[in-house]
Amino acid sequence: MSRPPVVLSIAGSDPSGGAGIQADLKTFSALGAYGTTVITALTAQSTLGVTGIHAVPPAFVRQQLDTLVADVRVDAIKIGMLGDAATVRAVAGFLGDHPGLAPVVLDPVMVSTSGARLLAEEAEQAIGDLLPHARVVTPNIPEAAVLLGEGAATSTEDLLRQARALRARGAQAVLAKGGHLTGHDATDVWIDDDGEHLLGARRVPTANTHGTGCSLSSAIAALLPRSGSPLSAAREAKTWLSAALEGADTLEIGHGPGPVHH
Ligand code: PLP
Repeated sequence: MSRPPVVLSIAGSDPSGGAGIQADLKTFSALGAYGTTVITALTAQSTLGVTGIHAVPPAFVRQQLDTLVADVRVDAIKIGMLGDAATVRAVAGFLGDHPGLAPVVLDPVMVSTSGARLLAEEAEQAIGDLLPHARVVTPNIPEAAVLLGEGAATSTEDLLRQARALRARGAQAVLAKGGHLTGHDATDVWIDDDGEHLLGARRVPTANTHGTGCSLSSAIAALLPRSGSPLSAAREAKTWLSAALEGADTLEIGHGPGPVHH
């Protein structure tokens, strides 16, 4: 009998398999974790984009969570697409009722790479209420800007300042992703109790980046239970994701920007 790390993804479904719950489960498996899922929304989606969203009623999101954790001990939680403010409140209520249940990696998903809104505008500020529950929050540049009600960072220094501000809002650690900055390096910013670090990675030249954010936050969640620290989980997750991006062009899935190769 063995018990691998059990990771829970609270997120939306992407039928094309590149992002959302499907990417999360592939990531968990690739990294030796056992995946469990609470689905917040169905999307109608292909590699060409999102054509519709069907939200799960928030009370049923809560019922899925309660039913699962009454039985299964989870070692880490990843939060992805929540869709609307009522669902954000349902998840926040659940986490508030189970303090210390498991470390939470919060990916504040707002808009897909293809431009579809995955979080209602009225819910953007509510996501900020989840920050105090987050062991790690992983915003990209547009998400960090929206959470803070500021303009988008245009330099690594800007991003570092915004990461500090997000930490002041309650997240224990912030991984602010610099992928939207121009340049050869995709430098991310890490900040936690122990200090600040720039996490560099060579920019992988591929258009097939669908699901990159989902996969990174899931990789951190999968690695957290066995890593010495959240920072080492983030470093290892980035190394793994770079390899998944390197392999993306070997995959031929659909007619639009394809997924990373898990
Ligand atoms: N669809 C779902 C259900 C998601 O959770 C996400 C995650 O962010 C996306 C799509 C967006 O993925 P991407 O922006 O990488 O295309």
